[in-house]
Amino acid sequence: MGEIIVDHDKCDGCGECISVCPQEVYELNDEGKSVPVNMDDCDDCCSCVEGCPNGAITNDAC
Ligand code: SF4
Ligand code: SF4
Repeated sequence: MGEIIVDHDKCDGCGECISVCPQEVYELNDEGKSVPVNMDDCDDCCSCVEGCPNGAITNDAC
């Protein structure tokens, strides 16, 4: 699996990554920023990288 990084300067908490991820990798933290809390479950489908409207997510396998 790739390493996932969410750029919190770009994330606006829209929740799209949570909606599109089939593996429930993401949660919003107390500041409304997306965090990959279940990164080990990621199957590198790349939906989150492609779906984030702010380009905040990188996965080095995508
Ligand atoms: S889709 Fe992008 S902007 Fe929206 S919550 Fe996820 S990381 Fe943040
Ligand atoms: S690459 Fe796919 S499985 Fe992995 S975190 Fe993104 S949407 Fe979820």
